[in-house]
Amino acid sequence: MVKEKSANNKSNMLSIDELATFCKRRGFAYPSGEIYGGLAGFWDYGPLGVELKNNIKREWWRFHVHQREDLVGIDGSIITNPKVWEASGHVASFVDVAVVCKKCGHKAKIDKHQVGKVKCDKCGSDYIVKGEFNPMFVTNVGPIKEDSIKSYLRPETAQLIFADFKAIHDNSRLKLPFGIAQVGKAFRNEISPREFLFRCREFEQMEIEYFIARGMKCPYIDEIKGVEMEIYSEEMQKFDKNAKKMKVYDAWKKGIIKNDWHAYWIALEFSWFVLLGANPEKFRARQHLSEEKSHYAVDTWDLEYSFPMGWRELEGFANRSNFDLTQHEKHSNKSMSIQDAIAGKVLPDVVCEPSLGVERAFLVFMFDAYEHDQKRENIVLHLSPKLAPYKAAIFPLISKGEVLEVSREVYKDLKEEFNVLFDESGSIGRRYARNDEIGTPFCITVDESSLKGKSVTIRERDSTKQIKVKIEKLRSVLRDLINDDISFEDAGKAVVTRVKKE
Ligand code: ATP
Repeated sequence: MVKEKSANNKSNMLSIDELATFCKRRGFAYPSGEIYGGLAGFWDYGPLGVELKNNIKREWWRFHVHQREDLVGIDGSIITNPKVWEASGHVASFVDVAVVCKKCGHKAKIDKHQVGKVKCDKCGSDYIVKGEFNPMFVTNVGPIKEDSIKSYLRPETAQLIFADFKAIHDNSRLKLPFGIAQVGKAFRNEISPREFLFRCREFEQMEIEYFIARGMKCPYIDEIKGVEMEIYSEEMQKFDKNAKKMKVYDAWKKGIIKNDWHAYWIALEFSWFVLLGANPEKFRARQHLSEEKSHYAVDTWDLEYSFPMGWRELEGFANRSNFDLTQHEKHSNKSMSIQDAIAGKVLPDVVCEPSLGVERAFLVFMFDAYEHDQKRENIVLHLSPKLAPYKAAIFPLISKGEVLEVSREVYKDLKEEFNVLFDESGSIGRRYARNDEIGTPFCITVDESSLKGKSVTIRERDSTKQIKVKIEKLRSVLRDLINDDISFEDAGKAVVTRVKKE
C-alpha cells in the first residue's frame, strides 16, 4: 500500500548554479579533475555526495526490489558485445541533432521531430542544424589494435536486462507479471552537457523493465487510489490546455492514461519521491507527443519536476511492448519466449519501463531540502533521515575527562550501525549550525548529567526540539527515528530549552 506523506515545503528555490556552488563548498560534488580545468559533463562526488547518492540508490533498491515479491535485480557490465546495441537499435537510431543559435551561438541538442520547430532557449532566435550525432561513447576492446573489437560504453542500463532475460527468468522463480531492476552507470556523449548534474556525460540510472503477458491486468492498481498529481496529456498539450490536478487512478479510469500499468508505475514513482521528502507540488506527469516518442515506444509518459530552469524530465515511463525481446531473438537467433505457470509459452511485453537518473533524483532531493533559515541565520538541509549523509552527530560538551570518554563510547557504538559524526570543536551553537547545513537530522549531546543519568540529549534538526534518551536505548531509538517508526516527541523525555527573547 502506498503511504501518502506530505513533503516539507521549506525550499526557497535556488538557481542551479547556486546549488552547484553550495554542493562544491560542502563537499557534495565537484567538477571532475578540476585541478586540470575539469571535463564538461563529468562530476566527482565528495564525502557527503557519495553518501547521499548511495542512500538514494539503496532506498530505491529497497523499495523496488527488496520490498516486492515480483522484482529481482541484476548488475550487467558497462561494456558488452556490440551486437546488443545493434539489436536494440541504438547503433542505427539513437541519434541527437546538434544545433547552434544563429544569434547568440548557444549550443543544444534537440530531437529529430523538433528540427525547424524550436527556437533558442536562451534568446529565442532560430537554430542552425550542425548535424546528427550518435551519443554512444566508442571504445576498443583488446589492447592490440588490429585484433580489437569496436564496442560501446552502455548508453542505458536496460539492454542487458533484455539480453539476459532468459537466463534471469530461468534462475529465479518469477511468474508473470514481474520486473527486473538494475542500477548502474550509463554514458552519453551529450552535445551540450550543462546545468550541473542535470545533463552529464557519465551518470547513473535506476531502471525497471516490467514484463506481462499481453492483456494482463495490474493487480496493484487499487494501491494508488489516493495518489493525486498534475496530469498533462498529449491532448492537453496539443489544445494548449493547462495540466490538471487529479487522482492518477481517475486519469486511468477516464482513459487519459490508457494503461493501468502505466498509471500504477507513474503514481508509485511519484510516491517514492514524496515519501523521501520531495515536494509533491513540483511534480507532474506529462505524456509524450506522438512525434516525440522513441523508435520502440507504444506510449510514453515522463515524470517531470519543476526545476529552476523550468519543467524537465526526471523519469521516463515507456511502454516498449515486445520490441526489445523480438529484436534480440532476431539478432541472436535464440528464442526469448518463456514457459510461464499461468500464461504458458509466451514472449512477454514490457508494459512499462520506469527509468530514473540518480543525478536528477539527487538534484530534486537537494532542491527540496535546502532552506536558508532566517531565524537560525544559516542553511538547514531538510533531507529525509533515510537520505541524510550522516544520521547523527555526537557532541561532547566538555572535550576531556569522563564526558569525552562516554561520548567516544556512544560514537563507537552508533558507528557499528549508522554513519555518524564526532564533533568536539567550537561552541555548541556552531556545531548545530554546521550539522544543519549538511542535513544531519539528529545531534546528540553528552554532558556531565549524562554521567549520572546514563542518558544523552538528542536535538532534532527540523524542529530544534530536544529529548533525553537513556544511552542503553540510544541505538534502537535512533533506528526507529530514521525509519519513521516513532515520532520525535514519543522517543524520549522532552527537554525544556530556554527561548531567546525577541
Ligand atoms: P533527455 O530528454 O533529458 O535527454 P532522455 O529522454 O534522453 O532524457 P532517457 O533515455 O529516457 O532520457 O533516460 C532515462 C532517464 O535517465 C532520464 O529520465 C534521466 O533521469 C536520466 N538521464 C538521461 N540522460 C541523462 C544525462 N545526460 N544526464 C543525467 N541523467 C540522464
